[in-house]
Amino acid sequence: MKILVSGAGTAGLCAGIDLARAGHTVEIVERANHLRVNGSPIDVRGDALETAEQMGILDAVHEHRITMTEQAKFVDRSGAVAASPVMPEINESSDDIELPREDLMTILRQALPEQADLRFEESIATLVDEGDRVAVTFASGREAAYDIVVGADGAHSAVRRLVFGPEKEFTEPLGVCVAIADAPGQATPGDARVTEILNLPGRMAGVARYRDKALAVFEFRSEPIDYDYHDPASQKRILAEAFAGVEDWKVPELLETAQRDPELYFDAISLIHMPSWHRGRVVLIGDAAHCATPMAGRGTSLALLGAWALAEELGRHGDDIEAAFNAYEQRLRPHAAAAQEFARGGADLMVPATWEAIEARNARLSAAQPL
Ligand SMILES: Cc1cc2nc3c(=O)[nH]c(=O)nc-3n(C[C@H](O)[C@H](O)[C@H](O)COP(=O)(O)OP(=O)(O)OC[C@H]3O[C@@H](n4cnc5c(N)ncnc54)[C@H](O)[C@@H]3O)c2cc1C
Repeated sequence: MKILVSGAGTAGLCAGIDLARAGHTVEIVERANHLRVNGSPIDVRGDALETAEQMGILDAVHEHRITMTEQAKFVDRSGAVAASPVMPEINESSDDIELPREDLMTILRQALPEQADLRFEESIATLVDEGDRVAVTFASGREAAYDIVVGADGAHSAVRRLVFGPEKEFTEPLGVCVAIADAPGQATPGDARVTEILNLPGRMAGVARYRDKALAVFEFRSEPIDYDYHDPASQKRILAEAFAGVEDWKVPELLETAQRDPELYFDAISLIHMPSWHRGRVVLIGDAAHCATPMAGRGTSLALLGAWALAEELGRHGDDIEAAFNAYEQRLRPHAAAAQEFARGGADLMVPATWEAIEARNARLSAAQPL
């Protein structure tokens, strides 16, 4: 089949690999002019490890494994340590591998077969399911037809909007915004695996470190907001406003580094719930279908599992696309539901809403053994 994949994130690249290897002709279009590889390290866990093995990338994933955080320091406004729980050595666990997001994206790009065509600065403008094919017009003006269109274009999916309806119909806002930026000035070799976190009521700013890198991480509670998903300048404005007037600890320098990062990752995070992930010849995978947000730490694993299940079911059901999409969806739904459940409650741990809640959280962490 001739298959169009919208989006070259984890889900889109995995779909490109799995579908091209199954003998389909695959075109991937990515809106950005490069692979978007930044972000904090991600986990490949549980059943996704077996998928990585089936995809032939497990050895490479192992090679790039990191141990992220040995110790989390929750600091007060002066920088004094308020709680310092020892983190578990999850990297020693056999069913979880943590690696830098940029490394996984590079591994996937390298695994993409030659017959998968990856085009940057291209996106779907219109899409008409004509029953026996999908006619697509691209933002560049190009026109083409495909047997199947796969929406792998993330939490703010354009394919979902064009085929299923406005984003608002499918979102459950978690009431938190997340921002992650490179913070080269915070990379301290002696403290390579220490994460530092300052909480103010409804706000969190921190530094996460791995290898010789450091990231500035921000979370803040917010009512649902409308913002331009593709405009870093407006996202940086929202971040600056959320922390306006905060002079405590390292917050001013962390904000400054975020303002300088051209690849800042920002999202007002929402779970995505859809009654169905497919319609006619169009199917959604990854965050586009079932975003579980960074709070779950499972988005990457779901993307691997989803792309693999889709390719396998298309192979199993031949021309019966509807049956293949149904089978894919049945396989993935339990995984997606479990991940989404995990995401709820993340805000209370990371961004307590009041000083009392911050103190109670710190006391709980201090008393507890490893998280
Ligand atoms: C830059 C970035 C940083 C991230 N950082 C983190 C993190 O630190 N922690 C975490 O838990 N999760 C992070 N995520 C989300 C995480 O990657 C996903 O939850 C998970 O990997 C599932 O991926 P996905 O491919 O479904 O979606 P995504 O990873 O969001 O990928 C979607 C891709 O589609 C592209 N795209 C969007 N719209 C269009 C369009 N209209 N046409 C064509 N292409 C389009 C995007 O540019 C992107 O490359 C990040 C995502 C991105 C894009």
